Amino acid sequence: AFGDVAAEQQVRADDRGHVFHSWSAQAQINPLPIAAGEGSTFWDYDGNAYLDFSSQLVNLNLGHQHPDLVRAIQEQAGRLATIQPSMANDVRGELARRIAEVAPGDLNSVFFTNGGADANENAVRMARRYTGKHKVLSMYRSYHGNTNTAIALTGDPRRWANQPYADGGVVHFFGPYPYRSEFHSDSPEQEAQRALEHLEHVIALEGPATIAGILIETVVGTNGVLVPPPGYLHGVRELCDKYGIVYIADEVMVGFGRIGEWFAVDAYGVVPDLITFAKGVNSGYVPLGGVIISDAIAHFFDDVSFQGGLTYSGHPLACAAGVATFEVFERDGILEHVRDLGARVVEPTLNGWLATHPSVGDVRGQGLFWALELVRDRETHEPLVPFNASGADAAPMNEVAAACKAAGVWPFTHFNRMHVAPPLVITEDELRRGLDAYDAALTVADRYASA
Ligand code: PLP
Repeated sequence: AFGDVAAEQQVRADDRGHVFHSWSAQAQINPLPIAAGEGSTFWDYDGNAYLDFSSQLVNLNLGHQHPDLVRAIQEQAGRLATIQPSMANDVRGELARRIAEVAPGDLNSVFFTNGGADANENAVRMARRYTGKHKVLSMYRSYHGNTNTAIALTGDPRRWANQPYADGGVVHFFGPYPYRSEFHSDSPEQEAQRALEHLEHVIALEGPATIAGILIETVVGTNGVLVPPPGYLHGVRELCDKYGIVYIADEVMVGFGRIGEWFAVDAYGVVPDLITFAKGVNSGYVPLGGVIISDAIAHFFDDVSFQGGLTYSGHPLACAAGVATFEVFERDGILEHVRDLGARVVEPTLNGWLATHPSVGDVRGQGLFWALELVRDRETHEPLVPFNASGADAAPMNEVAAACKAAGVWPFTHFNRMHVAPPLVITEDELRRGLDAYDAALTVADRYASA
């Protein structure tokens, strides 16, 4: 398809004429037509290659066109392309069993959904029914999806326009964020402790008898790769136990290997009551998400009907790709690969930029999930662009992103941050090449920063 000008023009014309895009003013966007993808790279119609440092929407954990996933979907399509959820099905059951085998604690049952938003939606519904309470607490600086309850849970500007219609039972609180502490703390430990005190105050003032759940990203994703400081998640678990609140871990972005563990909670030794997942479960080859449920909550529904369902819950094509994902992870040592590249290549390289780039204010992350927080002033932490910047205000970040793309690397940028989130199958050479492109692009940001 490379160089096929007519084909590219048709793609552009159909897209601009008829595709209504997410989160966009339709006349202000110009989506890049993509001709092909393989592994960690995709190509436009001119044959320009982009190394994907964003794994599409941080879902393409096993890269494009992974032969095992493609084969699994093809074989399943040839055998039984679909079957409704109230019937038992081999791949659906096998995937649920495999997820339960790697899930922490007694999380042994899986309710399948089509993606992450409806996973959170259904997790909240379970928590409400189980506790007989209605409020749910979630963090400012979070994203939980685009359905009614999920967008209400979201703690970023994507909620604002949707607020009047969204779930009224959600209350937001501040999570830990040592670099921009709400709690004037001067160490990660103090940040964790003060953030927990704040959370307990919110619980007290909202009324523990009204709170069904606390739903949080284990490592906050799009809103900044906010790694929880030592003790924080344990403290959340304790508060949930103390007040009879269901702990829901949103692992839509970080589950299935992103930080080098099956689930990010594994890195912190914490067992939630419900885990929501999507994205990496099958790299998004066919839409799939779900809720992993503790025995206590699952057994509550032994004699109480769970009122929720989806036509495509546990779709066989999606589940076949999920089973293949487990086989690839185990055979190819994906978790080990992620931990190795994260600790040996990404962490030292990014930390090195603190010394060489005046625009790099903070570096944080784990595995293949990292953020660089770009600032104009390292003393005051003034961000390179304002919170929620658009238009001319966002120009410096757009220039950094353009420099990456010109160097053949597709970056993940959000507000004043660049993230490093490549496919988990990326090779060391590819990873170093992408980091070199980020390194060079940061000189663009440095021009705005006082040394
Ligand atoms: N939760 C988190 C942490 C996410 O990052 C996302 C998507 O980016 C979602 C939920 C929503 O998932 P989906 O877009 O599949 O509905």
